[in-house]
Amino acid sequence: MTVHTLVRSTGRRGWTVRCDACEHTFAAAVAGRPEAVAFAETNGWIVGERTWCPMCAAAHTARRTA
Ligand SMILES: [Zn+2]
Repeated sequence: MTVHTLVRSTGRRGWTVRCDACEHTFAAAVAGRPEAVAFAETNGWIVGERTWCPMCAAAHTARRTA
């Protein structure tokens, strides 16, 4: 079971998704965690067993699938 431990509520500003591999964060001004995850994913983030920013996601997927 996946727990999005790196997706945190930031109070006023909504939610912050933090990359598992670097220090990048993504702020989503939405009400709920699912919306924050969806918003991040539409912006190129991968949120699941691992949380990766677009750059890390690209690097990892390039290595895995090339
Ligand atoms: Zn990253």
